Amino acid sequence: MRVLSADEVGLIYRVRMPGSRWQQMDQRVRIVWQPCRYGGQRPWLLCPACVGKVAVLYLGGASAFSFSCRRCAKLKYDSQRSGPRLRLMRKAQKLRRQLGGSGSLRFPLLPSSQSPFFNLTSSLRSVR
Ligand SMILES: [Zn+2]
Repeated sequence: MRVLSADEVGLIYRVRMPGSRWQQMDQRVRIVWQPCRYGGQRPWLLCPACVGKVAVLYLGGASAFSFSCRRCAKLKYDSQRSGPRLRLMRKAQKLRRQLGGSGSLRFPLLPSSQSPFFNLTSSLRSVR
């Protein structure tokens, strides 16, 4: 990356299609500065395809040889690519970790001696 000015950088990279020669690329990307709430400024990259403000650019998408934002590159988040079953499994794993257990669904959340059901059954046994 080459800083051309406070408002522009040059992305220098090489690309190659199978069976062809390397191509040297030099894509210019504009930068806009946004004031921060507590002072200072924050830089944003402007997507060369849609001119949207983004923090990250990806190679491919609008053109296989140029950088663009996630939306122009038609990239999906991992959670968007998974089916409903995998989403529910990840949700269950997250809840298990939040409760202090392991994320694995193969094992009980708590050891049987710490389970509230264990205390209930042992109390019921003692009443008999
Ligand atoms: Zn874009």
